This record gives sequence, structure tokens and C-alpha cells, in this order.
Amino acid sequence: MKKKIKDILKQYFGYDQFRPMQEEIILSVLKGKDAFVLMPTGGGKSLCYQIPALVKKGVCIVVSPLISLMEDQVTSLVENGIDAAYMNSSMSYDDQDSVKDAVRQGKIRLLYVSPEKVVSSDFLYFLDSIDVSFFAIDEAHCISGWGHDFRPEYTRLHLLRKKFPEVPIIALTATADRITRKDIVAQLQIDDPKTFVSSFDRPNLHLTVLPGKERFQKILGYISKKPNEAGIIYCLRRKDTEKIAQRLRMNGVNAWAYHAGMSAEERSRVQQEFIHGKTSVICATIAFGMGIDKSNVRYVMHYNLPKNIEGYYQEIGRAGRDGLPSDTILFYTFQDVVTLRKILEGSGQKDLQLAKLERMQQFADALTCRRKMLLHYFHEYLDKDCGNCDVCTNPPEVFDGTEIVQKALSAIVRTEQKAPVSLVIDVLRGSRRHDIISRGYDQLSTHGIGADLSSEEWRQYFLQMLNLGLFFVAYEQYQALKITEQGKKVLTGKKKVNLVHLSSFEKRLKAEAKEKKKTKRQETDEALFELFRDARTKIAQRDNIPPYVVFSDATLDEMAREKPMNKIQFRQISGVGEMKLKKYGDQFLAIITTFIKERLGQDKSVIKGGTYQLTYTQYKEGMPVAAIARERGLKETTVYSHLARLIEEGYDIDIMKFMTKGVKKDIRAAIEKKGVEKGVKPIFTVLKEKVSYENIRLVLAEYKKELRAKGVFVE
Ligand code: ADP
Ligand code: ZN
Repeated sequence: MKKKIKDILKQYFGYDQFRPMQEEIILSVLKGKDAFVLMPTGGGKSLCYQIPALVKKGVCIVVSPLISLMEDQVTSLVENGIDAAYMNSSMSYDDQDSVKDAVRQGKIRLLYVSPEKVVSSDFLYFLDSIDVSFFAIDEAHCISGWGHDFRPEYTRLHLLRKKFPEVPIIALTATADRITRKDIVAQLQIDDPKTFVSSFDRPNLHLTVLPGKERFQKILGYISKKPNEAGIIYCLRRKDTEKIAQRLRMNGVNAWAYHAGMSAEERSRVQQEFIHGKTSVICATIAFGMGIDKSNVRYVMHYNLPKNIEGYYQEIGRAGRDGLPSDTILFYTFQDVVTLRKILEGSGQKDLQLAKLERMQQFADALTCRRKMLLHYFHEYLDKDCGNCDVCTNPPEVFDGTEIVQKALSAIVRTEQKAPVSLVIDVLRGSRRHDIISRGYDQLSTHGIGADLSSEEWRQYFLQMLNLGLFFVAYEQYQALKITEQGKKVLTGKKKVNLVHLSSFEKRLKAEAKEKKKTKRQETDEALFELFRDARTKIAQRDNIPPYVVFSDATLDEMAREKPMNKIQFRQISGVGEMKLKKYGDQFLAIITTFIKERLGQDKSVIKGGTYQLTYTQYKEGMPVAAIARERGLKETTVYSHLARLIEEGYDIDIMKFMTKGVKKDIRAAIEKKGVEKGVKPIFTVLKEKVSYENIRLVLAEYKKELRAKGVFVE
């Protein structure tokens, strides 16, 4: 069975390896066990039910919450040559009936259904009449009021177990929260499911936190270096999403806003254009994201501090589902903390929410590996520092900040703990603002003692002090700053504090903006990647499917690096299954051939094995060896040695073009006598020097290839 599912993985999906847990889950589902699967966004949940659906008898019913998501999944499956369909209440009865007919005729392996549809009486009746292999409940956390995406329609799904006690259920989610987890299992009444919890680590995501000062310029600077890449910018407020999108558009970036205040049609249009690669950047409130499977989101930014780590992790998880390196950048300001606290003060579970916000702040202020902290939050432990977060790559430098802190705290005390942060900073900087003079603050001993720092620098130190718990903000008293016990200790000299050098952040920003120096070969590969991307866009537009459904970025990337020259090699690229080979193989191979010819005319060194590949290309075009040699200033023997190597590597070269059957037979007989280890010379001698060295070389190459195919080790 292991071999069978691995073959399916390659045949339909084009992948060579399972990701962690996938194989175990698939095997368990195949045994007919109920399963509960917890995997981070992008972990590869879909395959866990799609592969069993291809093996098991009957149709797999997949419950999925959003129509757009359903359509997307079905499109992807059909593109891979898998018979899948979806059904939801927005479809006409005729359309629904034809889907039902196809299912009854056994033509469908996977049927995606919305939660309200699946428990409707007519659908349950329909289910009675067909052979269901198992139920897969996607986004299963929607069933729980504890989760953050509660959907009332989901709560009726327990009917499935009641009506079809024999049919296995597999529930899948990315929500780690323990209460939610228990609730899902209880509500679905899957009593003793096999539970699979995979690691929440997403090592391809780079984590960075930056001060929010001049955020927009930083964002624009970043995006302008990757104009073709897709990204999401999450904001706290609707008006910010619109403002940022507009400013980005004014700067030539194709960006649009997405938030709950827009009409459903508008939202759906914006989302579709993003999915189809027509929009590069979405500026969104948290309402955006669950309905998309887009695998090539290359960066996720947070314009504001998120409310909690769960939300943050889910949002950054939308970057890099294809496994390629992707960036996440969080911007963070004093004002965000103030605003969020104010919002959460008025929320239902106030204490819990505030505690979660504090964890988020700790994360943003981390002086140790951020990934370690994140995973720890999800009860996982990472042995080593990750090496792929800003703290790892640009460790913050700290200094004894006691004096600065004392100045700040004393200004808070002198303003009788009645002033908000902006006023305290103005006093420190010696402002002669009207209200400072009218309150007599210009007479204070602290007035002007912090003039050596800019307001922005003070803001950043105040943020650090806030997070160190040296003071708090009294929201109900016009956001006045109040000193804590910890703060008092510092003020009276009983305690010292370290602050992070602000220059650390500047360095981090520079490191973030710095483009890694590329080798010539990388530049060449990128140029080829862009050609692939164009071809992919055209196909996607023609067939009206999302580009990443044609090929993922990861697949194009590998193609650009490996430059397959024939179908056998093309098929070895991860993400190329049988169907994709058939549909797109010729087109992409032609792009590679043309590209190699053009580039090699300029500089051979830029393509790995390029000179061999050019020989192959010219051979395929029917050029005789002598002509190839002449055109490129090579010796004919060199061209033959290229051909020999190409043969050994499995390129389709017909050696009968170079010799008669008789000669080939003689050479093979001589090889059998002399073996392959010693090379051409002894064979040449055995044949009494009657056949050419070149011909022996070609036959020898073919012979070696055959031996290897039989599993014999040949040097
Ligand atoms: P999830 O639903 O857990 O967020 P998906 O099922 O959408 O994740 O998978 C995320 C991406 O990873 C998809 O593009 C998918 O094709 C790809 N993927 C899944 N399994 C593998 C695998 N074994 N090898 C390579 N890519 C995979
Ligand atoms: Zn790290």
C-alpha cells in the first residue's frame, strides 16, 4: 500500500516525497479509522484525504466552508486529472442534478459540499443512494464556538455520524487551541479518532519585526523590489487598508483593499483578481484569507500589531505555502498597543484577551529567537535558534538604559501621572507648547532634560519601557501614564534596566532591504523563471484558472534550475504529474530550448551543463556532428563525447544514425568480452581497430545506461 500511495502522489500530483505526517494519515484513513488532523496552514492537509479518495471505493464527500475555496480545490484536482466536483446551494437545480448523476454513475472521486448543503434533507437522501467512501471535514474548527471562525451551519454536522455510523470521518484544522480541539471531536461525535498533530513550524517563513516609524516608505521600498510577487498587508482599520492601497497604486503597485465594509460582490472580485494574479497586493483587515489557497503569496506584512499570536501565526501562514522562502514583516508602534488595549478593554473576555495581547507584545520585543518563542507558544520546543528570524540574523544590541528610563519616569511623576505619552515626551524635549506653559510644566526640573533625543526615539524607548512593565496607560483617564512598582524601583535607583539600541532596528531594516548578491547563474535562472511565469499567466487567462494551479512557484523554480530537456526529465520536476506533463510539457520544453540556445550564444558558463544541452538541441534539430563542431569551434570528438554523456543521462539519441546494425552488434560483443570498466581502448583493440573510437563511445554509453537501469553499479 505504501508504494501504491507514493505512486499516486507522483502520478497525479507530481510530488516525490510526502510531507511530515501525510503518509501516516493516509494509511490510517485507508484502514477506515476516524482521524483528527491538526496541521499548520500550508502543511498539506488536502492530500491527506485526496489520496485515500483515489484509492477507496465510492465517493469521498468533502465539507468545505467557502464556495471560492471549493471551486479552487476542484479546479486544481481536475487540472491534475482527478474527477472532482462541487455542489452548493447557490447552484441551479439542473446543475446540482447533473453533478448527482455523475456521482451515481461512479464518475466522481471527490465531491465538495458546503456544510448547509450536506445536512439538508434532500442531500442526506441522496447520500443514502450512493456509496460514500468517507467524509472529510475541512476547516473543522468552524464547528466550535471557542474557535475564531465559528459557523453555525457546522454544528449540524453531527448528523453525518448519526445517519452513517459506518462511514469514517476525517476532520482537519489548523487551529491549535486545546479547547477547540476537544470541542471538534465531541461535536462531530467521532469518539476515538486517531489524532495527528504535526509540527507548527514553517521554516521557510522569515520573521521580522520593525518599528512602525515611516511604515509606508518601508513597505513601498520592499515591494518595489518585487513588483511581480504577491503579498498581503494586514491592517487593523478599514480606512488604513484603503489609504495604503491607494498610495501603493499611486506608486505603480497594483494593490487593492479588502475589508468587511465592502459589498460581497466587491470583496469577491478583489479576492478573485488576487487569486488569478491580476492584483499583486491586498491590503486587508483580518476578514481576508481563509477563502484562499493561493500557494505563491511571497510575503505577509502586518501594518499594525495583531491582537494575539494565534491570529498572527495564521495570517503569516498564508505566505509561502509552496514551501519557497517567504517574508513576514510586522510593524509595531506605541500607538498600536494603546489602541488595541482600548479595544480589548471593552471586549467580552477582557482579561484573557489582554493577556494574549501581552504575549504578542513580548513576541514583538523578543531579544531571543522569535521562532523559538512562537513554537513555544504552541507547546513545541525548538532545540536550536532558527537562523531565519531577524533576532537570529541581526541580534539586538542592548545597553544600560537606566538613566534614560529615570528621566522618562521622573517626567511622568512630575506631570503628576496625568499626562499622556505625547505630552510627557514634549516636556522631556523642552517644548514650549501652549498647554505646557499654561500648566507650568516648563518650570519643571525635567523640562528639556531629554532634548538630546528626537520624539520618535523617545516613543520607541517608551514602548520598550511599557513592555518592560515600568509604567502603564490609564485608558479611562485620557491615557495618562502611571508608574508601576517596577518603575518606582528604577526611579529610586534600586534597579537597573537594559534597553535595546535603536540602531539595532536600523541595521535590521537595512539587512531586510539588502538584496542578496546573485551569481550570474542565479540571474540566468531567474530570467528563465520569468519566461515561465509569463507562459503560466497566459495559460491561466486562457483557461480561466489561477496561475498557481497550472504550476506552483516552487515547480517553476525547480524547472528553471534543472532545465529539463526532454519529457522524462520534465516529469522528474516536483509538481509535474502525468496530466501536467501531457498538457504543458511541450510548451515549457520549447521555452527551455529556445532560452538555452539564446543564452549559450552569449555565455556558456551561465547554464549548468549548458554546452551539453546545446549539443543536444542542435542534434535534435538534425545538425550533423561535423556542422555542430564547425559552428561552435569544437573538435568532432568533443561533440561525440557530449553525445555519449547525453546518452548515459537518458536523453533520446538514436545511435543507429551513426553506424550500421552490424557494427553495433560487434561493438556490444566486444564490450561483453572486455567489460566496461577500462573504457574504450581495450574494446578498440579487440575489434582490431576496425571501428571508430567515436562509435565505441556511443555504444559503450548506451550499454552503461542499460546496466545502471538494471541496478548494476557502474562508475
Ligand atoms: P493546507 O490545507 O494544510 O493549508 P494545502 O493542502 O493547501 O495545505 O497544501 C499547501 C501546498 O503544499 C499546496 O500547494 C500543495 O500542493 C503543496 N503540497 C502538499 N503536499 C505536498 C508534498 N508532499 N510535496 C510537495 N508539495 C506539497
Ligand atoms: Zn530565530
